[in-house]
Amino acid sequence: MPTQVLEAGRKKLVTKPFLPDLVYFEPDALEYPKGRKIYDWAKSHGLPIRMTTSHNRITDLPGDTELEKYRNAKRTLVVGIRKTLKFDTSKPSAEYAIPISTGCMGHCHYCYLQTTLGAKPYVRVYVNTDDILRAAQQYIDERKPEITRFEAACTSDPVGLEHITGSLQDLIEFMGKQEYGRLRFVTKYHHVEPLIGLNHQLHTRIRFSINSDYVIRTFEPGTSRFEERIEAASKIAKAGYPLGFIIAPIIWYDGWEQGYTELLEKLAERLELQEKTDLTFELIQHRFTKTAKRVIEQRYPKTKLEMDEAKRKYKWGRWGQGKYVYPDEQAEALRMFITEQIFLHFPDARIEYFT
Ligand code: SF4
Repeated sequence: MPTQVLEAGRKKLVTKPFLPDLVYFEPDALEYPKGRKIYDWAKSHGLPIRMTTSHNRITDLPGDTELEKYRNAKRTLVVGIRKTLKFDTSKPSAEYAIPISTGCMGHCHYCYLQTTLGAKPYVRVYVNTDDILRAAQQYIDERKPEITRFEAACTSDPVGLEHITGSLQDLIEFMGKQEYGRLRFVTKYHHVEPLIGLNHQLHTRIRFSINSDYVIRTFEPGTSRFEERIEAASKIAKAGYPLGFIIAPIIWYDGWEQGYTELLEKLAERLELQEKTDLTFELIQHRFTKTAKRVIEQRYPKTKLEMDEAKRKYKWGRWGQGKYVYPDEQAEALRMFITEQIFLHFPDARIEYFT
């Protein structure tokens, strides 16, 4: 996971960019300029390199127990070619998920990738960006003159991988040229330098995932600190990008009202006036499935994440297993309270959804 170090001479924790312990390549990935660039990068950092026939099948990860293997997988980068160019839908935040990476080095206890990625928690990046962009172009053309929005962070946190791949830069510049295409992604990392100075044409909205101090400290190891995320948000706003915040997962705990009040106070304090225009918020309450609960309890046995089915409302899923969300009364209290706090500090902001 990205390590936090004390900057020399200053009392400030800095989250370092992700450096994997081990890198796998599909042989064909080396035929692509991005694949070769990542190979050179891995070599220059002295990282052990292995070859694999498929980025979907890594079977020889180091580790004696399942838990060790999981932890090592999160520190393993797999470089491959994206073969499936049929994009998944990505409601409510966008029309489609654009696949540039899968998996994440962060250790957020609640992360839904724990279940959606199943036995493949390693970090995969795809080097055939041109193929991915060609597919995006087709989706845009099919829907025009409707705008088509693509979400780049459905299965990963691509900002945390940008120093390795440069894929967001490709996507941002591509969407800058699209009359009917828009890009969006969300991050818990602050490594946004490569995104500054690009010709985005306001077609990319960058959102930062934020939460109360308690939630970040208790459930989000291996990600950038709140202060780092806010500094990065400021840089992104200054670079002219539309900016947004996702408060997710919203968690009910003793003291949540104070926690979320402080969160929005701190946010308002840190952001400058011009950074508060065209601001969006997305609000997502905590939810879990039975499978997620089982996996989380295995991988983070000491987690304080409350996952008591008896305290939750069961929400049927459209495809298969449903989710446990907060009962209506609690969900409504969270929604109302946080909405009020947002408008108190950011009267012109837009709340895109609460789910
Ligand atoms: S940063 Fe996002 S994608 Fe990564 S582990 Fe945390 S919630 Fe999951």
